[in-house]
Amino acid sequence: MTKRSIFFVFFLLLLLSYRCATPEKPQFVQDVIEVHMAESNQIWLSHEHILVDFIGADSIQPTTWNHDEVIKEIMPYLEELKEFKVDYFVDATPNFLGRDVLLLEKLAKKTGLRIVTNTGLYGARNNKFLPKYVRESSAESLSEIWIDEYENGIDGTSIKPGFIKIGVDKNNTLSPLHQKIVQAAALTHLKTGLTIASHTGKAKGLWPQLEILKDKGVSPEAFIWVHAQSENNNETYLKAAKMGCWISLDGLGKDMEKDVEKILFAKNNSILNRILISHDAGWYDPQKENQKITPYTTIFKQLYPELKSHGFTDEEFNLLISVNPSKAFSIEIRKLPSNRSDT
Ligand SMILES: [Zn+2]
Repeated sequence: MTKRSIFFVFFLLLLLSYRCATPEKPQFVQDVIEVHMAESNQIWLSHEHILVDFIGADSIQPTTWNHDEVIKEIMPYLEELKEFKVDYFVDATPNFLGRDVLLLEKLAKKTGLRIVTNTGLYGARNNKFLPKYVRESSAESLSEIWIDEYENGIDGTSIKPGFIKIGVDKNNTLSPLHQKIVQAAALTHLKTGLTIASHTGKAKGLWPQLEILKDKGVSPEAFIWVHAQSENNNETYLKAAKMGCWISLDGLGKDMEKDVEKILFAKNNSILNRILISHDAGWYDPQKENQKITPYTTIFKQLYPELKSHGFTDEEFNLLISVNPSKAFSIEIRKLPSNRSDT
């Protein structure tokens, strides 16, 4: 073997060891300012709200709220997050419920927070937040609107969604309208790689959605079970985790004892790597005279010390607040290994 070939073999071994040492693919996240690489050591709040208007799709008017007024009310609560080094703030307010991407962009620039917004439609609460055109639209045409928001921007801006937010009523069977919304989300995912976060609640509303994803060949790994804390049977978390779905315990602080019990259950059953935590807190309500905003800090001020007192390590906490959300919200098409339609 010549000196040159020895050098080359050495180089190949070096390259191979480098590849083995970096098995993780780079993960990209889209916030209201830019797309960038996600790192696993950044802190996320994965389900919160800046503004929600419950007036309904028929009556909602973005002119109802004034940006300066909302900013004045919400800024102190966002400023508080600096102390806890929060990097990402996922705003889960859907279209027709007060999603206002220009407001989010202003707040992102003012605070330095990476605010993530969404595309999609929210069918829960008896379709109050669905515009009339949804009934006549096909799943394909709804997905075209959502894909267009991702490719070209929302509401005439260049601001792009970082995930798909949908909502269904929590029944064992989904109405045809809600089935269509889930199908549209699956089609949008297959084109964009955006993760689907669905307002679901109890597990009985989860399984029919995962069935639709399966029919479309989308992996449960592309799906976040939102408001999973409403489920009383912890065993269902094991089933959902086994399928690969993200389990979002996002009402943190509303019932701390129950929250801690659920997180410890996840730890004891080795499914912490599928759990997301957040507060579902905030928000400015344009229909209210006096604002009552819930802070976004209970996780850091109360949950963290509580978990530590139950033997939780910093590494485990880091999974919930950094590693898992950076994976869950990374933009990547996640298909089922074998599409049922192939067999
Ligand atoms: Zn919410």
